[in-house]
This record gives sequence, structure tokens and C-alpha cells, in this order.
Amino acid sequence: MQAFAISESGTTELSEMDLPTPTPVGTEVLLKVTRSGVCHTDTHLRAGYYDLGRRGHMQLVDRGVPYPLVMGHEVVGVVEAAGPDASGIEIGSTRLVYPWIGCGECAVCQDERENACPRGRNIGVARPGGYADHLVVPHPRYLVDIGELDPSWAATMACSGLTAYSAASKVLPLPSDDPVVVIGVGGVGLTAVATLNALGHNAICAVDMSEANLAAAEKLGASITVSADGQDLSARVLTATNGPVAAVIDFVNNDQTASAAFDMLAKGGRMVQVGLFGGEVTIPTALLTLKMLTIEGSFVGTLSELHKVVELAQEGRVPRIPVVDAALDLAGVTHSLDRLIAGGVTGRIVLQGSTK
Ligand SMILES: [Zn+2]
Ligand SMILES: [Zn+2]
Repeated sequence: MQAFAISESGTTELSEMDLPTPTPVGTEVLLKVTRSGVCHTDTHLRAGYYDLGRRGHMQLVDRGVPYPLVMGHEVVGVVEAAGPDASGIEIGSTRLVYPWIGCGECAVCQDERENACPRGRNIGVARPGGYADHLVVPHPRYLVDIGELDPSWAATMACSGLTAYSAASKVLPLPSDDPVVVIGVGGVGLTAVATLNALGHNAICAVDMSEANLAAAEKLGASITVSADGQDLSARVLTATNGPVAAVIDFVNNDQTASAAFDMLAKGGRMVQVGLFGGEVTIPTALLTLKMLTIEGSFVGTLSELHKVVELAQEGRVPRIPVVDAALDLAGVTHSLDRLIAGGVTGRIVLQGSTK
């Protein structure tokens, strides 16, 4: 099979690699990749590290990420073959892949929170992902039927849609007129705005550097928009929302945004930190106590949450986010990641595999 992969640790260049097409064994299922969404997380994977502020860099190679690294965790594919123990799956059917796969045995996995498994082996990180023409899933339970949904949009649900849903669920329920601030309304943040709206929340304040992103957020249900360009972000959000606010979801999560998020919160408020831009934040610890604040990290979501995301979409309760098409080939993967780093992509880039 052809994969568009990083051959070894230390290089940031993708290359086209001819890897053996896996033969599914046991409960495994082999899919031909037809859609593969491009996530900002992959720009960090390509770079090989996460920024931990003054603590330096967390190198992926030290975290057990294997090379060649085939990224891509927003995959829709057609089932091509299945192992002898993979039941209930039809060859030729189109399925969305749940990529956040745990060990299946620990207490967290037994509680169906595989994305929080300490021994997780995620598709597109620890297992080969969707920047390739084929992909293996360890069990049919990780395949979600998307029915008549547009496969490009459905692909974005495995990370972007799921991350947005899980983060939105962490700040709700709230009175629907209590402002929720969403910082960063590119791909994932835009979906969070649409999801909050679909879950019945009215007061949504979108924050972004890009006017185009703010306009898109308004169309998907943001009632207030604030430009992130300029000084005193928290003060400007407080004015726009008549704050302080009950909740902030931060899809950027760098020094500036996390610090601003903390300063926006009302007593009992909650900040849900999702972005992986990295950095660090210094907070007055006494305020954390006196205001009884909650700081929570949110990484992707559970398999049952993914089923709910697909259900919401099938019921027409979330609008389709803008999808930018590109080809599933070496240039398509490389340029798409470069575009995400440059910023200004409204919605999600989804790579299309060949139909032959
Ligand atoms: Zn992702
Ligand atoms: Zn586990």
C-alpha cells in the first residue's frame, strides 16, 4: 500500500512509502481509505514534539511513537477484508473509524473511556493512520455507520466533531443565556459553536484572530464575536459578554489564551482546555480557591460520544462545517499541514482517496 509518512524520528519531511498492505487477522478489519481529515494535531506530530513551556519539549519518540509514522485519524473508508473473528461487518460497506483506541482491559477502558486509557494506542499516532490508501482497525466495534451522511463531513467527526462535542458537554448544562466563550473558531472551535447551539445553548461568544472565522461562527450560532487581535482580550470579552462568564472552551490553549480564559471566569466558573499550541500559564492560586474555579483538560472523546455526534448530524441538528477538498497524495498531505500552520483555513481540510 502507499502511505504518506514520516520515515524516521528527527525528520519533519513526509515521503511516499510503499508498505506491505496488512492482511487482517483475528477481529481486525481492513479498510480502503476514501476520506482522511487533516487535523492540527498532525502538525505537532510532524514536528516531533509538544511545547511544554519552560519545561522544554516533550519528544514523541520518547513517548513510544513508532516510525515510519503514518498520521491521519479522521478516516472514512470502505471495508475491504476482515479477519475470521470480525463479526457483523459487511465487505463493501462505508464506515467512519473511531481512532482513540485503548488497551481494552484496564478500569478506564472497562468504563468505556478508552480515550483516557494510559496504554492507549491511537490510530494515526501509535498505529498507522489514514494518510495512506489502506488502514487496519483492530475490531469492528470501532467502525461507525454513517448512513447517508456526506463522507467528507463524517470524517471530520472522528476528531474535530468528537473533540467539540466532548468539550461542549463538559461545560453544559448551563442556563442557555449564560455566555460560553469559545476561543479559536477554526475547524474544531467552529464545530463546538455549532454543537453548543444544537444542544440548545443560546449565548455563545466566539473569539478568533480571523474575521472570516468569526463570520463563519456567527452563521453557525455565535451570538457575540470578539477579535483576538489586540491587547486586553479578557477585558474586551468581559465587556462584550457583560461578564464574568461561567465557562470558556479554549481551542488554542497557549500562554495568552489560557491566561485570558482564567481572567474571564465568574465564581464557580470552568475553563476547558483543548488546544495543543503549548506554552504555560501562571495563575494567582488564591483566586482559584476563592472563586472555586475548575480547570479541565479535554482530549478527543469516547466511542459513545462519537455515536452521539453522528446521530446529531443525521438528525440535521448540527450544520455541515465548511470542508476544503484536497487529494490524498504526498503533495495533498504536505500542503494541507503547511496551510494549517499558516492559519486562516475556514473549516476542515479533508483529503479524498482515489475511487479506483
Ligand atoms: Zn485531531
Ligand atoms: Zn485501557
